Amino acid sequence: MSTQLTYKEFLSRVKSGELSLPEYYQGLKSKIETEDKEINSLLSVNNKLDEMAAAAQERYKDGTNRELEGIAVAAKDNIAVEGLPNTCASKLLENFIPPYQATVAQRLSDAGAIFVGKANMDEFAMGSTTETSAFGATKNPVNKDYVPGGSSGGSAAAVAAGFVPAALGTDTGGSVRQPASFCGIVGYKPTYGLLSRWGVTAFGSSLDQVGTLTTNCEDAALLTSKMMGLDEKDSTSSSRVPENIKDFKAIDIKGKKFGVIRETLENEHTDEAVRAAMQKKIEDLKAVGAIVEMTSIEEITYGVSTYYIIAPAEASSNLARYDGVRYGLQVPRVADEDVKDRFTKTRSQGFGDEVKRRIILGNFVLSSGYYDAYYKKAQKARIVLADRFVQEFNKYDYLITPTSPVLPFKLGENFDDPLKLYTADLCTIPVNLAGLPAVSIPAGIDGVSGLPVGMQLIGKRFDDGLLLGAGEFILGETK
Ligand code: GLN
Repeated sequence: MSTQLTYKEFLSRVKSGELSLPEYYQGLKSKIETEDKEINSLLSVNNKLDEMAAAAQERYKDGTNRELEGIAVAAKDNIAVEGLPNTCASKLLENFIPPYQATVAQRLSDAGAIFVGKANMDEFAMGSTTETSAFGATKNPVNKDYVPGGSSGGSAAAVAAGFVPAALGTDTGGSVRQPASFCGIVGYKPTYGLLSRWGVTAFGSSLDQVGTLTTNCEDAALLTSKMMGLDEKDSTSSSRVPENIKDFKAIDIKGKKFGVIRETLENEHTDEAVRAAMQKKIEDLKAVGAIVEMTSIEEITYGVSTYYIIAPAEASSNLARYDGVRYGLQVPRVADEDVKDRFTKTRSQGFGDEVKRRIILGNFVLSSGYYDAYYKKAQKARIVLADRFVQEFNKYDYLITPTSPVLPFKLGENFDDPLKLYTADLCTIPVNLAGLPAVSIPAGIDGVSGLPVGMQLIGKRFDDGLLLGAGEFILGETK
């Protein structure tokens, strides 16, 4: 699908001396400088790239090169990376440079990866278009009149534009998979707990996972194999090592059983173009020997309502720390101001509309009188849905849905219609509620609009390597 080198190919060229790291980074920098003015995928670019590239090249010379020495990667602007701002695309954190680094970033740096910059996103990862960023929308490199998806839209656009071979994003309800689908690349959300969330700005802590945006599944597995593992600083992190993550191979899907979740294909929200691309892809899977059946998870239709109670509830609590006292935006003081005025002013001026909407909703569903009616009920619905997935995985190795039921939106098209955007997360959200791993892979281009369609493959908990292996096989064997 892509002419981009895989990380392994890149590393072998650097090792053989065919590719010079200082020259490679010069090239990346000038490409970003000329092309990103229009796309706006990166909010900051690392100003130490020349030094870091030279140091990495030196390590090849003296034989101290580490496993990922010199690979380029970008991170969404809610994942703390040493020395770079961490704005979450919000005015509230505009000048914030964290004095710490996320565990996932630390582990990649320790393996030799170089962070090129921080990617644009929807403010605090709330949104599906990257238009809620306080620093301007990102454009989709496939067609610049369209959004790249969100909330990790900057990460997806940076990869699709060829600025970096891979980028980290975060996925609370689809924010890695949906932008990957909109930009025609691969987006992988790990099993909840596989990657540490420490140093990643929290949105919905029981749903959030860091994920990867790449052009193939092998790179996703390679990055994950370096980032995963128990982290003392995140009590939800796991020490489990998924099969096929470390010595990654494509997995032949001949004879494997796939269940297509009917409710995600056959409903009033799914575009005809998406349905057609999915049908074609399903035929391709059958042609290479996979067993593909339609199956039903009726409960999936409650996913969006459940998520829009749980995620805002957790967000309202997580975002309470942005009060203008400890860090972030400091609005000018006025005489006779009390602490409440200060909180109110900071939060009114610092947060955008979508974030405010979520905070209000979250406080509402958690308030006494409504807690039982909404929050508790949503928690119960979440358990029912997770159980249904377990039952389906007794019958199938993998489940399939479109990643997004709709094609990418035009810039500005849905900005004022949050409900429409919320509904469009119907295929990705249930996966976060159940804590499962999933990957979005390109499933074709719509003939009329020329816009990409993504297919979502969902796996069993901790089957991440097998999931990516199947994804790699499908990318290679079906066109
Ligand atoms: N679009 C969803 C939302 O706005 C998902 C966001 C995410 O995964 N971070 O909540």
